[in-house]
Amino acid sequence: MQALALCVCALSGLLRNPAHGRVRGTARPRSRHRPPRPDVANVNDPKTLADRIEDLLPQTQCTKCGYDGCRPYAEAVAAGIANYNQCPPGGLEGVERLAKLLGKPVIPINPDNGVERPRPVAFIDEQLCIGCTLCMQACPVDAIVGAPKQMHTIVKDQCTGCDLCVAPCPVDCIAMIPVTGAATGWDAWTQQQADEARVRHDRRAARQAAERNAAEARAAARRAATSAPQPQAQQDAATQAASPTADDAEAKKKAIIQAALERARRKKAELAEQGVGPRNVEHVSADVQAQIDAAEARRKRIGIESNASDASDSAPDDDKPAR
Ligand code: SF4
Ligand code: SF4
Ligand code: SF4
Repeated sequence: MQALALCVCALSGLLRNPAHGRVRGTARPRSRHRPPRPDVANVNDPKTLADRIEDLLPQTQCTKCGYDGCRPYAEAVAAGIANYNQCPPGGLEGVERLAKLLGKPVIPINPDNGVERPRPVAFIDEQLCIGCTLCMQACPVDAIVGAPKQMHTIVKDQCTGCDLCVAPCPVDCIAMIPVTGAATGWDAWTQQQADEARVRHDRRAARQAAERNAAEARAAARRAATSAPQPQAQQDAATQAASPTADDAEAKKKAIIQAALERARRKKAELAEQGVGPRNVEHVSADVQAQIDAAEARRKRIGIESNASDASDSAPDDDKPAR
């Protein structure tokens, strides 16, 4: 009997894992929670592969990878359409990060996409700027401030060094100045800077989508109003709008806008006397004027009136130019 009890004890000891005191066949206790690593795939992570790739990119939104920003490039890499060595701002360390995530070897940056370099920041020669707004429209992270026919300025801490404002400038007054010494790639750009650039880029994209939707809704409403037969209530409203009271309100509104424009013109003249603001807005070449006209047409198409911005110091917020 004693021998039988000893055998049972020994068998129970064999079934128990001496290291963890766990009976075989039962679940292994979960290890303590570790923070997720973006460069390591995790089956419990709800993020897609494209999400994890995007998290590793520098978010300068420079399009040097051949795609319209970091997110489209991340999606192309995840789909196997683009290679993982097409992002010069990330440099070799960026390739290493992606290679680790994808389980692939480290390869050099594709020279067709550019070279790893010290990070530059854009600088506007304000004496030459004609205030055409083309750079502002090109900046993917809203790092440029200005208004039509006013001097434009770069917000240095928000500039990602993407170069996208340089080409559209009709008077070549934007220079890219390296600011990181010999440091390149991720040595010249922090994760915090990348995160902030991503937020600004996404906010800009959301704002532009909202502006487009609003312009389309206005256009649709105009089309519907002109094509639909007018019901009696609308005819009554139209009659009332033509009444002296409506005329008075309209005249008052025009007078307010006119006064605001006049104040803005006076302010602009005062600034010009102090040497503040672009100095060569007159007599631009035909080419430059054509670019400015095209930009103005684009702004009008999406519902941004440049004249309203002249009155930006006094007009209501709705009339101010959106960036
Ligand atoms: S930083 Fe530039 S090159 Fe790199 S993924 Fe983003 S847009 Fe493409
Ligand atoms: S200011 Fe120019 S270089 Fe800087 S982020 Fe904007 S577009 Fe790019
Ligand atoms: S002139 Fe150049 S810097 Fe000035 S607003 Fe136009 S694009 Fe920008």
